[in-house]
Amino acid sequence: MNLDFDPALEDFREEVRSWFANEYPKDILAKVASGASLTTPEVREAEMALGAKGWLASAWPKEHGGPGWSIEEQYIFDEELERAGAPTVTPMGVVYVGPVVYTFGTDAQKARWLPGIADGSTGWAQGYSEPEAGSDLASLQFSAVRDGDDYILNGTKIWTSAANHADWIFLLTRTSQEAKKQLGITFICAELDKPGVTVKPIISIDGKYHLSQVDFENVRVPAANRIGEEGKGWTYSQYLLGNERTSYARIGGKRTQLSHIRGIASQIPTGGNERLIDESAFATRLSEAEIKLDALEITTLRVLCSVKDGGAPGNEASILKIMATELAQEITQLFCVAAAEHGNRKFADSVSPDWTGTSAFAAPGVATYFGTRAQSIYGGTNEIQRNIIAKRVLGL
Ligand SMILES: Cc1cc2nc3c(=O)[nH]c(=O)nc-3n(C[C@H](O)[C@H](O)[C@H](O)COP(=O)(O)OP(=O)(O)OC[C@H]3O[C@@H](n4cnc5c(N)ncnc54)[C@H](O)[C@@H]3O)c2cc1C
Repeated sequence: MNLDFDPALEDFREEVRSWFANEYPKDILAKVASGASLTTPEVREAEMALGAKGWLASAWPKEHGGPGWSIEEQYIFDEELERAGAPTVTPMGVVYVGPVVYTFGTDAQKARWLPGIADGSTGWAQGYSEPEAGSDLASLQFSAVRDGDDYILNGTKIWTSAANHADWIFLLTRTSQEAKKQLGITFICAELDKPGVTVKPIISIDGKYHLSQVDFENVRVPAANRIGEEGKGWTYSQYLLGNERTSYARIGGKRTQLSHIRGIASQIPTGGNERLIDESAFATRLSEAEIKLDALEITTLRVLCSVKDGGAPGNEASILKIMATELAQEITQLFCVAAAEHGNRKFADSVSPDWTGTSAFAAPGVATYFGTRAQSIYGGTNEIQRNIIAKRVLGL
């Protein structure tokens, strides 16, 4: 059995790797490596570099401005982007709303929104969650009232990622109160710089500003910003969530993190009395994480290959979301354990009076550890994913 990629795909990998090594903005790679947050102009710079090459909307078909890559090519591209240390592409435009626009939008909406998403010049945010509607998303109350050719929007969205870098937000709004909560929800796009919209920062546990509360007070948007039919927004929102949940695998980044942990561990002298960790238990955990990553990779490819043209991954995406999340959290824990022992041994053995060796990599890694705790909450909590698997995959 030959499990290697086709040689043509290895040529493709080489092309992508060399582009990241030679053409991708070096200032962005350096800032990401330092663990600091990118500013809005830097996010735009990073995404427009990919957009200019035609690689930002990496999963889109050619007819909508994407490269028309096969699943394997998209996969290799993601791996190389992460291996290069480039920032994760903000998914709200290219992964979330873009496919909704080209699948359910009008020709005018496609012409208006897709080019700015594909070239990276327009940032998007996702307005699903509300203070009283998270896991039970269908109970959302953000209101859109039809008034002539417009809708008037009122309400609050919360935990909105990347709203601080965004020009547009796609919103789930309530346009009517039906007995079944999933009905009467409408998918509307709105500009964030309009009067009546307020974006308030929420600082998260990793010390960064990437979340906001977004308030709308009597904001008028054209009805032409509605995607699909009024009252059918739930259908589009679920299509979008299938794509969202599959996007968490991030295999290349995990491989890079695991090899970084091996590198740190290999610098720690074996034995000694001042150890914080049990060496063999640590080695077992690290090997288990590597095996789980192989399983995640194969499962991701299986789910992606089962998607039919124009479709989105179905409820199986929930399995991937849990696997990817648990592994991401385990890897960041292993990192903290390795970093702690590295610093501890430097101190205990007086290997070096200079602590920068540990602190240079530990500080950004610990922020990543804290940030990764949230992965079992966003995109639907792990408990909700287990409910979906039990009911809709296993039919329990
Ligand atoms: C870092 C981060 C980024 C986010 N980004 C966005 C974004 O860009 N856009 C957006 O719209 N939202 C975003 N969210 C919001 C996220 O989707 C919600 O936080 C999530 O859906 C959970 O909703 P909640 O916070 O209201 O918690 P709740 O729904 O109140 O859940 C609280 C707890 O109860 C459990 N629970 C609830 N219902 C059930 C049930 N039926 N069965 C079993 N257990 C249950 C949950 O698993 C959880 O542990 C983000 C959240 C975070 C943390």
